[in-house]
Amino acid sequence: MTQTIGHFINGSIIEDTARTQTVFNPSTGEAARKVALASKTTVEEAVAAAQAAFPAWRNTPPAKRARIMFRYKELLEQNREKICRLIGSEHGKIVHDAAGELQRGIENVEFACGAPNLLKGEYSKNVGPDIDSWSDFQPLGVVAGITPFNFPAMVPLWMFPLAIVCGNTFVLKPSERDPSAPLFLAQLLKEAGLPDGVMNVVNGDKEAVDTLLTDPRVQAVSFVGSTPIARYIYATATANGKRCQALGGAKNHAIVMPDADLDNVVNSLLGAAFGSSGERCMALSVAVAVGDETADRMIAGIKEGMKTMKVGAFSDESNHFGPLITAEHKAKVESYIDSAEQQGATIVVDGRNPEVPSELAKGFYLGGTLIDRVTPEMTSYQEEIFGPVLQVVRVKTMQEAMELINRHIYGNGTCIYTRDGEAARYFADNIPVGMVGINIPLPVPVSYHSFGGWKQSAFGDLGAYGPDGVRFYTRRKTVTQRWPTSEVREGAVFSMPTLG
Ligand code: NAD
Repeated sequence: MTQTIGHFINGSIIEDTARTQTVFNPSTGEAARKVALASKTTVEEAVAAAQAAFPAWRNTPPAKRARIMFRYKELLEQNREKICRLIGSEHGKIVHDAAGELQRGIENVEFACGAPNLLKGEYSKNVGPDIDSWSDFQPLGVVAGITPFNFPAMVPLWMFPLAIVCGNTFVLKPSERDPSAPLFLAQLLKEAGLPDGVMNVVNGDKEAVDTLLTDPRVQAVSFVGSTPIARYIYATATANGKRCQALGGAKNHAIVMPDADLDNVVNSLLGAAFGSSGERCMALSVAVAVGDETADRMIAGIKEGMKTMKVGAFSDESNHFGPLITAEHKAKVESYIDSAEQQGATIVVDGRNPEVPSELAKGFYLGGTLIDRVTPEMTSYQEEIFGPVLQVVRVKTMQEAMELINRHIYGNGTCIYTRDGEAARYFADNIPVGMVGINIPLPVPVSYHSFGGWKQSAFGDLGAYGPDGVRFYTRRKTVTQRWPTSEVREGAVFSMPTLG
């Protein structure tokens, strides 16, 4: 173990070995690198750099800010292979999956390139005699982003490109479990021409996060991660007077109706449940089959499909998914499978102790697992598993399936498989979930819409990226202006001004 991953502050990599944590290569289980865990003082330096860069950046024309993002997009594309390897080597996802993640991230950069258009204000002439009024959208100042391990490139790219083109300066605190890709993303921004201090990265843990949450110079916090931490971030940031959006965990159900195209269902559930080892907040982890016949046919198809699934190292593109992020997380996912078994569910396909080549024996692998006859009381149903585990709940009617989703604490994503337009329309309109798919398993909104769950999957009023992102990273100012055309002056008016 040689390298210690540092911070990126004011345009330079800052080495820091005072407090560190091991970063693993999950494919081999090796301790590959160390990451610095920033002290309060280091985070304060990053915030100070961002604060110092703000006045000039705020006054940089949006079109000039956007041009940097155009160059940045090209650099991301040119460095695609390197970024995907960085992601895979620390996260474990297969390179083709990392490429998909990066592409979805780049699409947020493309959206940010539209800054001059996105920041156009609103104007009304003659709101009163000789009076015009306009609203413009001004940056907030220093904003912070705190991101999870499962999308080390895409989730940071949801945040900083848009925040920056809106005229803010940024401090990112990526996951300490896979910090190399986000650090490199920041370095590429410098190469794209971004002035020093506009983008900063501090690696670290709770100490770094708490400093960002309480520093009065930080105006807003975007968070993505698990629900208990999202709740804490939202409560602490808002108690400290900051604007906050905190996206949390999920339990995404797919309703499979008796009339669904089962070949499509099987293929899309395989990808959506097991892709990225199920470590996606939009992973479909519960299939709700309407009717026993639907359940039996669906399970037979999924079981057959799972026989062809290949689990292994991130670098082998023929693998379908890789290891879990850490040994601890693997043990936690296994414990959910154990508990489902103990509580009476049927393990149809057991992914515990999968076969992998001997050189990968220490990797954090768990094979795809299919569990039938899961019921709402089971721990594995109530909590987010975040692993390659698909659970099947059997119900008799679509209404029963919807009630199940209604009652769950999470409301991130959901999907219905059906050929019945009326049923699909009713479902989409009435289900209390933020992102809905109709025969689409992972309804992750594109970059020019916005991402956001409901219930305990998100805290705060605005979603991530897209139009909500522009609103989150700006504040409206409304100016009312009068340039009287005559010498005549009105007398004092003490009643509320009106048009009369
Ligand atoms: P996590 O909540 O453990 O960590 C997220 C971030 O919070 C990290 O940067 C981490 O350093 C920091 N953090 C962790 N514990 C903290 C504490 N006690 N105090 C302050 N900061 C703390 O999440 P994770 O395991 O990295 O990511 C997986 C979770 O993220 C899953 O629950 C998944 O559903 C969720 N997620 C949600 C979305 C979404 O858009 N809703 C997207 C991706 C991931």
